[in-house]
Amino acid sequence: MSKSWRFDTQCVHSGEGVDGDTRAIRRPLHMANSFELPTDFEELFKTFSWEHADKYHYTREQSPTPRYLEERLATLEGSDDCIAAASGMGAVAATLFTLLNAGDHIVASEVCYTGTQKLLAYHFPRFGVDVSLVDTSDLSELKAALRPDTKVVYIETPGNPLMNISDIEAISKLAHVVGATVIVDSTWSGLVTQKPLELGADVVIHSATKYLNGHGDALGGAVLGEKKLMDQIREYGIVHLGACISPFNAWQIMRGLVTLPLRMEKHSDNAMKIAKYLESHPKVKMVLYPGLESHPMHKIAKRQMTAFSGMMNFAFEDDLQKNFDFLRNLKLITHAVSLGHDQSLILYMPGAFFFDEWVMLAEERQGKYRDIMGAGVYRFSIGIENSDDLIEDLDQALKSVN
Ligand SMILES: *Cc1c(COP(=O)(O)O)cnc(C)c1O
Repeated sequence: MSKSWRFDTQCVHSGEGVDGDTRAIRRPLHMANSFELPTDFEELFKTFSWEHADKYHYTREQSPTPRYLEERLATLEGSDDCIAAASGMGAVAATLFTLLNAGDHIVASEVCYTGTQKLLAYHFPRFGVDVSLVDTSDLSELKAALRPDTKVVYIETPGNPLMNISDIEAISKLAHVVGATVIVDSTWSGLVTQKPLELGADVVIHSATKYLNGHGDALGGAVLGEKKLMDQIREYGIVHLGACISPFNAWQIMRGLVTLPLRMEKHSDNAMKIAKYLESHPKVKMVLYPGLESHPMHKIAKRQMTAFSGMMNFAFEDDLQKNFDFLRNLKLITHAVSLGHDQSLILYMPGAFFFDEWVMLAEERQGKYRDIMGAGVYRFSIGIENSDDLIEDLDQALKSVN
């Protein structure tokens, strides 16, 4: 393995190799949950220490196939080490429970993935952590929320589900002044289009369920950063809290990663074409895509991303029934949660229960998001199908609604 290989070569080769036992040209899927231990004191000691990543004893702690995935992801994200987790939420919880203690303060995106939102809004306060939820795409709000005891600044960019872009470089600088650890949930960038560590962040999180796996058939998560912190997160967050990845899922995600650069290019190209199509459609009222100049944070997105990935929001109708007619008439695009899959998925988020079900915002904080939400918006994950087929599907479904 050479560190100098370029990104797409690393996607194919890093963490891969010829199997020592069989000479198979792909590394094996090891489903064993336990490993024979050495009968020598020194070797036994090494097996139970994190210093030796390739000495295994129990799969909740570490095992070969997840370790291959961790090696590949660490190379791709340009980080010291990686922890694979059972899901994106497993990665988020493992990281935050490791870093935060009672009495600590965290500043986080007020609109972010619903699971992270609820973890921060409901659970960390139960353990005496002081949580400030702000609009992290507004630097003045972020700055005002920082305190000398702020331990963590947590941002999600592009943000789920309303496409907020937060300035990773500027936020990292501000947060480091008070000594806070900057965590970026970079799931929506699909890794290829954004490199938070190069922009100054300390930790990157991915839901590998999405673009990294890319085929809609495995759950997984990843945390990336300095080895010392990763060792801690592995012990407290994964071994003690238990969200270790299944070797089978790790193997699927490892396989998905081979085509990541090809897929992200196609997701981004398709999304740009579809965003332009929707923006020019007379029935469509609103399109939010970071690649469009009309996106309020387009300039920041352009600065920190190399392409704009495959996620967008749009809205065309206030009438609830008409939105369901549209969904019913889609033939190719599927109404479903999750995202970053090969196939296009669309989720209708009715404004009527958005703030009760997805984003737990205090009444006085809801204003600007209510303006975006209106009666409801779509969260649209553009797949890697032919963009003409996707546009034709949207076109006929929009036409069918009167
Ligand atoms: C989906 C998602 C998560 C959670 O990931 P799971 O794999 O579903 O647990 C976290 N963050 C973002 C931005 C997501 O889109």
